[in-house]
Amino acid sequence: DEAITVANLARQMGVKATEVIKKLLALGLPANINQAIDFDAAALVAAEFDYEVEKAGFEEEDILQTVEDRPEDLQPRPPVVTVMGHVDHGKTSLLDAIRHTRVIDQEAGGITQHIGAYFVELDGRHITFLDTPGHEAFTAMRARGAKVTDIVILVVAADDGVMQQTVEAINHSKAAGVPIMVAINKIDKPNANPDRVKRELSEHGLLPEEWGGDVTMVEISAKKKMGIEELLEMVLLQAELMELKANPNKPARGRVIEAKLDKGRGPVATILVQEGTLREGNAYVCGTYFGRVRSMFNDKGQKVTAAGPSVPVEVIGLSGVPNAGDDFVVLADEKQAKLVAEHRQLKAREKELSRTTKVTLEKLYGQI
Ligand code: GDP
Ligand code: MG
Repeated sequence: DEAITVANLARQMGVKATEVIKKLLALGLPANINQAIDFDAAALVAAEFDYEVEKAGFEEEDILQTVEDRPEDLQPRPPVVTVMGHVDHGKTSLLDAIRHTRVIDQEAGGITQHIGAYFVELDGRHITFLDTPGHEAFTAMRARGAKVTDIVILVVAADDGVMQQTVEAINHSKAAGVPIMVAINKIDKPNANPDRVKRELSEHGLLPEEWGGDVTMVEISAKKKMGIEELLEMVLLQAELMELKANPNKPARGRVIEAKLDKGRGPVATILVQEGTLREGNAYVCGTYFGRVRSMFNDKGQKVTAAGPSVPVEVIGLSGVPNAGDDFVVLADEKQAKLVAEHRQLKAREKELSRTTKVTLEKLYGQI
């Protein structure tokens, strides 16, 4: 059903929201600034200001829908990898080991920023790592319909074997349809038993390649930085088999990986570009926010002006702090972006409103 918030109606008529609220109250309608009012109420109030309200029948698909890519538009893109596994099995250590061997040593002076994702290079090929290990981030993304991960690296400590969260990670990955690769970690430990890990994983449906299965398992030590390059090679091999592709030559679409309010810079979000190329100055809608990309930074904290598929960038110039998993869509101009964002805000408020109404009614009936 058509509805508009008091604030939005006031702005569109160029009058103060308090004036609109006064009129609504005079008409016997309860009102506050964030309230969504229906078409008839809006028409009544608008008439008081000599405005006519028109039903626009706005559908965000009208603006957001894009033409499907032709096969010749698609180009290979780097894989996006998430590290999962039981607590203390070495997820953070593995991410650190990768960052240290592939990022800091290679780029003198390059300081990695924590932006929630990073981009590593191996002989001219790239891998994007999502820097938020754990199941929560993964599940939160999925709950928002965001599929950002191409490959899961499951870390299993060779001295501890398959544990509860290992099994959970396997289930999450399977449910999301994301292929799993295994990093058998801590093989430097005297009591390491990689064969036991493989046996236990087999019992959970992950059969290693050397036993005739299709799951790549690499023995590593995150602490001693052993097997890291081999693991990365395997990731790239897996990615090649998956033929991951995207069209870089169109306006960008991506997902929020992480977002925060920075004291000095305002709202900051790490966006994983999934298709197209994101450029400085682009107008976008992101969740219920919109704006223009004021500036972008890579995972080394360096300013960049463009970011293609699978590249994570920190974006400044948001009108608010979005949620991890929110979409990020570049539009032709800020006016269109605003239209979509306002429509989403309205929808969100309507939902909120119907929820509170429902709760109030339930309370009321509960008392009778
Ligand atoms: P997370 O909870 O999965 O992120 O695990 P951490 O990376 O925090 O590691 C947990 C503990 O295991 C830390 O004390 C690490 O130093 C240790 N650890 C991680 N990787 C290795 C490894 O390859 N060998 C050994 N011996 N210890 C490791
Ligand atoms: Mg950790």
